Amino acid sequence: MKALLIEDSKLNLADSPIPRRDGEALVRMTMAGICNTDIEIARGYANFRGALGHEFVGVVEESPDKSQIGRRVVGEINVGCGQCDLCRANDPRHCPNRTALGIRGRDGAFAEYLNLPPGNLLIVPDSVTDRQAVFTEPLAAALEILDQVEIRASHTVAVVGDGKLGQLISRVIARTGCDLTLVGKHEAKLELAARAGVKTAKLGAEGIVLCSDNFSRRLTKGPQFDFVIEASGSPGGFRLALDLIRPRGAIILKSTFRDQAPIDTSRIVVNEISVIGSRCGRFKSALQLLESGGIELDPLIAREYELTDAVEAMAEAERPGTLKVLLTN
Ligand SMILES: [Zn+2]
Ligand SMILES: [Zn+2]
Repeated sequence: MKALLIEDSKLNLADSPIPRRDGEALVRMTMAGICNTDIEIARGYANFRGALGHEFVGVVEESPDKSQIGRRVVGEINVGCGQCDLCRANDPRHCPNRTALGIRGRDGAFAEYLNLPPGNLLIVPDSVTDRQAVFTEPLAAALEILDQVEIRASHTVAVVGDGKLGQLISRVIARTGCDLTLVGKHEAKLELAARAGVKTAKLGAEGIVLCSDNFSRRLTKGPQFDFVIEASGSPGGFRLALDLIRPRGAIILKSTFRDQAPIDTSRIVVNEISVIGSRCGRFKSALQLLESGGIELDPLIAREYELTDAVEAMAEAERPGTLKVLLTN
């Protein structure tokens, strides 16, 4: 089969054997999404080698669970050891011996076929298209925030970063009815969020200016947000989050990148800020949200490529300002 392999920070579309892990399902990938994590892995983050990719929808060709065969599925990306305390507490996402699809010790979804244990697979409802289902993983990651902190309509929330994940998170958080502002640098992407009903603010040389308000109001007068969600994908995003958070507020960190972020820990101490790391979420609620039609995703798709053009697709996804690039098989 064809697979997009990463080895020593080099991407290569190669012929590769069809993966066959004992006791696991064989899934034919039909659509996959490129996310920032893939781009960072290609730059050396996580020291991964093998087939890249963790956002996918596919069809089960073989499975120890016969009821799955022929069904359209998405898959939770973390596979725990099944033995440790965390796995036994139904938390394989944090198992110290876990593998993760296309990220850690397990070939991923930018390939014609992939393996996952039957228990990781969820059937996609008929009313959810492939172009929606391919967003299940990042949508679950956005929903994870609401599992970690309670955001109510009375709260003020800022999302830092107007890229793919920031856009998705904004749409999810807006559903709480909170006073939400997306802070970004790119006019077109802020407009995209504004069209989805999200208040936006532009980060420029003159500071941060609220866009979607009748008058331009500066946001940098003082920290004012109860929650700041950092999804900029860059080390500088954390500093901006510290500028925006009110004393005793909580910063939720979503970005993973190869470089390290400089952190002013004194400001965290003095202002008694909570800093919360946030990674993958549960797929079930993401699929339910997709099925309810409660979130519009089409405007977030930049372009589709055939799997055989995956190297080109990665180059496109890497260009600053590009939204979701999809691969089809
Ligand atoms: Zn991802
Ligand atoms: Zn375990």
